[in-house]
Amino acid sequence: MHKTIDFDYFNTQLVHNVGSRTGAIAPAIIPSAAFGYQNAEEAEGIFSATVQKPLYARVGNPTNAKLEGIVADFEGGLGAIATSSGMGAIAMVCTAFLSAGDELLCIGGFFGGTYSLVNETLARFGVSNTFCTVDDFAHIEATLQRGVKMVIFESVGNPSLTLPDIQRIIDLCNQYDTVVMIDNTPTPLLVRPLTMGADIVIHSSTKNMSGHSSALGGIAVFRAVKEEGDKLHTDKYADLHKIVNKMGKKAFIAICKKRAMRDYGMTANAFGAFLTMVGLETLSLRVERVNQSVATVASLLEASFPKGCTVNHPSLTSSPDHARYISDFAQGCGPLLTIDCGSKARAFSFLNALKLVIQTANIGDNRSLALHMTSTIYADFDTQAREFLGVHEGLIRVSIGLEDPKTIAEDFLQASQSL
Ligand SMILES: *Cc1c(COP(=O)(O)O)cnc(C)c1O
Repeated sequence: MHKTIDFDYFNTQLVHNVGSRTGAIAPAIIPSAAFGYQNAEEAEGIFSATVQKPLYARVGNPTNAKLEGIVADFEGGLGAIATSSGMGAIAMVCTAFLSAGDELLCIGGFFGGTYSLVNETLARFGVSNTFCTVDDFAHIEATLQRGVKMVIFESVGNPSLTLPDIQRIIDLCNQYDTVVMIDNTPTPLLVRPLTMGADIVIHSSTKNMSGHSSALGGIAVFRAVKEEGDKLHTDKYADLHKIVNKMGKKAFIAICKKRAMRDYGMTANAFGAFLTMVGLETLSLRVERVNQSVATVASLLEASFPKGCTVNHPSLTSSPDHARYISDFAQGCGPLLTIDCGSKARAFSFLNALKLVIQTANIGDNRSLALHMTSTIYADFDTQAREFLGVHEGLIRVSIGLEDPKTIAEDFLQASQSL
């Protein structure tokens, strides 16, 4: 059972964390690529992290730092790193922790970009992987026992909408001293994995966090490393001990900056970080609204869709994930629902009959969006991979926005008349 989210608490926290009480209310955009040092001693101190001042914009800037503090605060983390995109955040964490010969455990179906990062790119660099379905705990535990280096999973399957037992997976990872990263993109505020014992949370801030589709961005948030008995002190993470010993509780941040961001440069830019903060002011308000609307739209569609057209959302009693929705996601599991029209041709007629809903590859926008899956994001995937990811020929992914939920449902219902 997850804690009940007090959206009003987050409304107050977010507007005051984003805006300043004195001087300029809006966050400052500091686009400088480089930062002058007062003297040689200060330069030395900045490079050895004993002086907390900007070094060079590839490893962070003051605007990003403001965004990082806000997100770390609402996720319950020690600190964060803002990146150029959500994939940038995932790639940063994976390449910082994994080396050739390591194994990665992936639980559940994945967003297409993460799936190809793991199966194609990381595989090319010698990182092997094992995939388990979210409830296959025998397989999950056997894989952890074998000594995998890292575990990744999504708070809510996109687009499968499977809901994992987040607490149980985190507890198992902790039992086997394995670093666990959760992609929390669809469920900011609703799920707070760091408060449940996770090590790392990432978001594509392009999506729900911004809401306005004006800024590509990502962020990774980290817990504090314990002084004694931390999983990072075990032999499995011997290659990180030098950084862990030097940086103490901030080691997760230093590991990602020194072992990935410095060398790959997946850094957020100041203007993007500013735009993300503009979105964050209203995050709690939007999350509460959208999650109520998704359930409303899902039930209106289920009641009136013609035969051969089905809607899936865990709030519906017809969903295989309904029990977990009630126990763990009672305030919502994000903006997505799916519609299955049975075939690609029917899905295309349905989509082309939509008047309000926009066809695009994004999710978590303030506007409602829809996309056919197998002809777009999953076009390159073979049948077996599509099956594992729960992507069928007639499947349309829908992301619900801020419009009137009855108006959204009416658009889908009038489109279903064209079938
Ligand atoms: C969009 C998305 C990503 C990737 O984020 P980008 O900002 O597009 O790079 C990762 N995970 C999930 C769940 C997403 O929806």
